[in-house]
Amino acid sequence: MTSSTIIQPATLYIVATPIGNLGDITLRAIDILKHVDLVAAEDTRHSGILLQHLAIQAKLYPLHDHNEQQKAAQLVEKLQSGLSIALISDAGTPLINDPGYHLVKCCHENNIRVVPVPGACAAIAALCASGLPTDRFCYEGFLPAKSKARIEYLNSLLEEPRTLVFYESTHRIMDSLQDIEQVFGQEKLLVLAKELTKSWETIIRCPVHQLITWLNEDENRQKGEFVLILEGYKKDLAQELDPDAIKLLKRLQQELPLKKAAAIVADMYGLKKNQLYQLGLDSKSE
Ligand code: SAM
Repeated sequence: MTSSTIIQPATLYIVATPIGNLGDITLRAIDILKHVDLVAAEDTRHSGILLQHLAIQAKLYPLHDHNEQQKAAQLVEKLQSGLSIALISDAGTPLINDPGYHLVKCCHENNIRVVPVPGACAAIAALCASGLPTDRFCYEGFLPAKSKARIEYLNSLLEEPRTLVFYESTHRIMDSLQDIEQVFGQEKLLVLAKELTKSWETIIRCPVHQLITWLNEDENRQKGEFVLILEGYKKDLAQELDPDAIKLLKRLQQELPLKKAAAIVADMYGLKKNQLYQLGLDSKSE
């Protein structure tokens, strides 16, 4: 055990495991999985293979969506008796579209310490490689399974300015993309991150209609695990502002620094300086 990892009794550890590449397990995760009294796992058979690969002989305890509420109470009793427990899921970070929420909530309600042991998470891995804004984003998990509900839900996100992150599976990737195209339009920019950290890892950033064409070209491209990242809603400032104010801004921009030009136009038309500054930046980059 590394000097930094000392297992505490009566503590629940939330341990992230790889999402494909087994090299992504952290040293701290290995230490903790080796030394806790019990490992609660979504699928004990699946996790058994990972633990075997890591040469860890752990006592496994099943905790999945269908039995979580009932098992959470039993695990809390074990924690209260002084046991240390690690929670893992089939892949990535537990609780992120995986079981564990009831257990963690129950621990807090019973003053049991919960320690996160961070590592792989498909949403974060995809987001940081997406080339879309990461300063504010919205994790949306899986879209509804039925098209009517999916379209309704997507409509509610039409004016969401934050970057949107979705999980998707082989079975629904095409249907979801077609609904995204229907709601957001064919030019909506998005990123498809497929089979992250695995040998067929693919990251594609393009308008939704191009992505649909790409997936249609070869059925194998529709197979695997996907993260979809959509660019957030951008206000069309030029359409909202007085056309004379925009004209003046453009003219002044040719003679003055943008900051000064924006301040003069804002003053004359009673507008926001920042808005005009942004418009000036946008027109420069165009
Ligand atoms: N807890 C996991 C995490 O931290 O990312 C997510 C579990 S959720 C049940 C499974 C979904 O995560 C998949 O359907 C897929 O959308 C996404 N996912 C998991 N592994 C992935 C990978 N290697 N590449 C792309 N997406 C992945």
